[in-house]
Amino acid sequence: MNGLPDKVRVREVGPRDGFQNEPEVIATADKVRLIDALARTGVKRLEATSFVRADVIPQLADGREVLEQIDVRGDVAVSVLIPNERGLDNALELRDRFQEINVFLSASETHNRKNVNRSIEESLTGLEAVLGRAREAGLRCEGVISVSFGCPYEGDVPEERVFGIAKRLREAGAQEIAFGDTTGMANPRQVRGFFAHAREALGSDVELTAHFHNTRGQGLANVLAALEAGCESFESSFGELGGCPVPPGATGNIATEDLVSMLHEMGVDTGIDLEALLGATRDVAAVLGRPLGSHTLVAGPVEWHRD
Ligand code: ZN
Repeated sequence: MNGLPDKVRVREVGPRDGFQNEPEVIATADKVRLIDALARTGVKRLEATSFVRADVIPQLADGREVLEQIDVRGDVAVSVLIPNERGLDNALELRDRFQEINVFLSASETHNRKNVNRSIEESLTGLEAVLGRAREAGLRCEGVISVSFGCPYEGDVPEERVFGIAKRLREAGAQEIAFGDTTGMANPRQVRGFFAHAREALGSDVELTAHFHNTRGQGLANVLAALEAGCESFESSFGELGGCPVPPGATGNIATEDLVSMLHEMGVDTGIDLEALLGATRDVAAVLGRPLGSHTLVAGPVEWHRD
């Protein structure tokens, strides 16, 4: 087994990836309270909302209000999802309220068409303009590639195609590329090869991030495989919230609590206080009024009685 890093970076994406996929619209005041709680767990990266059109994603129509009202310390980088230049224009009106943007597209034509009604090339052309302008505005930029490990419509997604898209995003200004297992098709053997090949293909000057979903219960196994292949950056959602609306029923980012618990038990630091995180997750469970997928929320942290 390869050596594991002493520390990894975790981005909490629940307030965007999670809340977007809830059937109900969560009240702005609840979102603000939950984001403020997450920002006090020690997490250093937090995706807060998006600037997608309100009629497309009504769950995040209050992006402006959320950004205006949250109280996040300066050492936490707030990220917002930007779909296009119009979204960037709207976000830039609140430029001092966030530090990072992320843009997204899919690695398969069919998934991209169903998600944003564009070809991959059309998406890339639009996002290249967004990335250029965002960098000019001093924003750190992440490109997220959905269905990087397999597509529910097209099946196999060649690595070369994913890396080709990643190179375009990097050349347009993205400093970080996240690979999304959007419908939970990846397996650990595949992931280990993928991240090793990604580093070879993309070089060392871009951060590579794993965005796994736990759709088939393999999310944490995939995390271990990615770690062993040199990945040191992960995205996850408190309470295992989130998923992809296409296709219906595909749900669940890996739970941040479960990710943090596993990493800490392996001696890999995240900087996150697990008890504080569980407090935020209990709060969101109460807001949503339903059981959540997080295991650690149910079982609590591992107790070794060592002290
Ligand atoms: Zn996700």
